[in-house]
Amino acid sequence: MQNSLLLLAEALLYFTAMTALFRARGRIGIGVFMCAIGVMHFLETYLASVFYVVLPFGIVSPGSAVLFSGKLVMLLLLYIKEGAATVRQPIYGLLLGNALMVGLVLILRQHQIAPLPDGRMPDLAFIDEMGWLMVWGTALLFADAILIILLYEKLGRYFRKALFARILVSVACVLTFDQAGFFTALHFVSGAPLEVFLGGWVAKMGAALVFSAMLVGYLRYVETERLASPRGLTDVFETLTYRERYEALVQDAGRDGLTGLLHRGRFDADGQQAVAKSRGGGLPLSLLVIDVDHFKSINDRFGHAEGDRVLRAIATMLQETTTPGDRVFRVGGEEFAVLCSHPHAIARLLGEKIRHAVKAAEIGGLEVSVSVGVATVSGDADSLDKLFALADQRLYAAKSSGRDRVVGEGAEPRAQAQAAQARN
Ligand code: GH3
Ligand code: MG
Ligand code: MG
Repeated sequence: MQNSLLLLAEALLYFTAMTALFRARGRIGIGVFMCAIGVMHFLETYLASVFYVVLPFGIVSPGSAVLFSGKLVMLLLLYIKEGAATVRQPIYGLLLGNALMVGLVLILRQHQIAPLPDGRMPDLAFIDEMGWLMVWGTALLFADAILIILLYEKLGRYFRKALFARILVSVACVLTFDQAGFFTALHFVSGAPLEVFLGGWVAKMGAALVFSAMLVGYLRYVETERLASPRGLTDVFETLTYRERYEALVQDAGRDGLTGLLHRGRFDADGQQAVAKSRGGGLPLSLLVIDVDHFKSINDRFGHAEGDRVLRAIATMLQETTTPGDRVFRVGGEEFAVLCSHPHAIARLLGEKIRHAVKAAEIGGLEVSVSVGVATVSGDADSLDKLFALADQRLYAAKSSGRDRVVGEGAEPRAQAQAAQARN
């Protein structure tokens, strides 16, 4: 009886102290809570390897019943309130920190160790035993933590209103899985008898009950903000395993924040490559430079935010009018470019298609039009700079001859004359 009460007291102290740190995260930072989780990990492993107490149903270690179960519940709390991108930090931190510890111990063993004045020596056999438990326990914890989060999400669909049941089932399932895994290791390393498995399991189920009740109490009465609705499992899993970070990075690289199109830097790099390839293989390559007409007056009349909306709408339209082989860039504020592998006449038709699409769209009830200059790689336009200069010159001609039009090859003499006139 006394042992049970002491375990309960330990669970209460652990939960209260940890949630107090968690609650104060806005003021003291989430790092405090995370470090506390990490520090407890050592005590937990030490206790789980040597510190057992007798309960009516078997022998139990506070290391696994209280500290390990508690840590899992803390990770679940961190996920519930802060999301997958935050909870993965301690999950990976614990895994990598333990790997580092094992690495250091391997070097430490090589020392010539001096005995203490009373003749004591470090117990290397014990360190080894704990090391194995630590490695195994951490690998299990890694699986447990990901499992409990996925389970919690999965159960969200069935226990929409019953938060306690949702948390309890998640914690109990994962602790059962963990007990089976941990006992297997304990059995082989220190010959733990089956009693330890059963005792530990019953204790963990008790811990699941107590911690789940406390967590629900905390979520209901302390942090009362609405909880997020269930998320897709693949989505959560990719965040937990840092895959989303990588994919988002690959996706974002070279993309413009407002429109999601490739940006100017990418235009220079991709464009030079495309011109070289076109010249090497004799394949057609055309460039369309597209500028929004009187865009300044849209900004002036309806505000910058409305202007941004127009730019986004045009970007979407450009992607819809072009084919996947074409590349669309935002090369300036309200200036776009399309690189396509079409001969000149077809590229001009594409320009007309874009011009009509923008005009027909009446974005946000406004009448928006664009002017387009088209140039194609040739003997004269044999570099990206020259190609761009030519397309830009034709764009200027389109502007000065009235806007809302596409200008390509052949319009030069008249367009240039008009452009010259406009400049004077
Ligand atoms: P035109 O091209 O027909 O000669 O006239 P315009 O009014 O479009 O000409 P200009 O190139 O001088 O104006 C471009 C304006 O685009 C100026 C700038 O304030 C605005 N702009 C540039 N970048 C952004 C942006 O990201 N968002 C918004 N809303 N406006 C932008
Ligand atoms: Mg403009
Ligand atoms: Mg402009």
